[in-house]
Amino acid sequence: MTATIIDGRAAAERLRNRVAARAAELARMGTVPGLAVILVGDDPASQVYVSNKTKQAAAAGIRHFDYRLAGDTTTETLVSLIRALNARPDVHGILVQLPLPPHVDTNEVLATIDPAKDVDGFHALNAGRLALGLETTVPCTPLGCLILLRQVHGNLAGMRALVIGRSNIVGKPMAQLLLQNDCTVTIAHSRTRDLPALCREAEIVVAAIGRPRAISGAWLRDGATVIDVGINRIEVDGKTKLVGDVDFDSAKERVGAITPVPGGVGPMTIACLLLNTLNAAIRAANTRVIEPLEASE
Ligand code: NDP
Repeated sequence: MTATIIDGRAAAERLRNRVAARAAELARMGTVPGLAVILVGDDPASQVYVSNKTKQAAAAGIRHFDYRLAGDTTTETLVSLIRALNARPDVHGILVQLPLPPHVDTNEVLATIDPAKDVDGFHALNAGRLALGLETTVPCTPLGCLILLRQVHGNLAGMRALVIGRSNIVGKPMAQLLLQNDCTVTIAHSRTRDLPALCREAEIVVAAIGRPRAISGAWLRDGATVIDVGINRIEVDGKTKLVGDVDFDSAKERVGAITPVPGGVGPMTIACLLLNTLNAAIRAANTRVIEPLEASE
């Protein structure tokens, strides 16, 4: 069997177009969605992510306010900047690019963001609402994964899903979303025993561990759907190459559908950030939000 390659770029483009159309409508009603983007330090990967986010925001009609701060910026400075942004009516979303330098208290910084402007969905209140199944802002990467899965399967009810990785930004919210979609969910992590056996059982595998090609195709169930969140930089013949957490070449001979890296989950993450920002602006303007699955149609 050769797998269907799930085209994250095409799905992200459809989503961005929906966001842009609604942002234009909102602007005609007097509200231009605004996103503040805070980058601390000069980590090259973070600079690339931030510049992609701001470019795509501008293309979708979302105004962005950029804060590029020195690597020695203190927690206190960040907290006062965020408080000022919380108070601004033209800023609907606040994004702090992670990771922050080790001397900064990341939890305190994230906790300062007004939950209504927390477009990454990392605030404890939003994470708690997700766990309770209440309406909330869902973290962008798992939301993008869910949209792709729904495009492949429609209804996920009853499917056996394995989430590999339990981080607060990917693994845990992903598991919550799959549970809300009536999957039977297993969460694996670095202390899990016999990961290949769990993979063999799973009809859906979401891999988010940050280990290049660690999940072998031989472990996967025939016909499974695989969402590869991993973005790992490796050296091949002296050149840097991006690969996922799944060994794509062996997996695609076995599974039913798989996301490539690059071109799978990555573009969906940014498109979902735009969607979350738009919806924060819509809520502030007191009109109807776009449901993620409706937006991806
Ligand atoms: P973290 O490092 O925060 O978490 C990794 C998780 O994987 C941990 O729960 C860890 O377990 C688990 N893990 C590590 N090694 C293994 C292993 N051998 N077997 C099973 N589980 C393991 O990473 P993130 O969640 O932030 O990111 C994961 C990957 O996704 C990275 O490659 C990152 O670059 C990528 N990413 C991609 C995004 C996108 O837009 N496509 C967005 C965000 C992340 P334990 O908890 O026990 O330590």
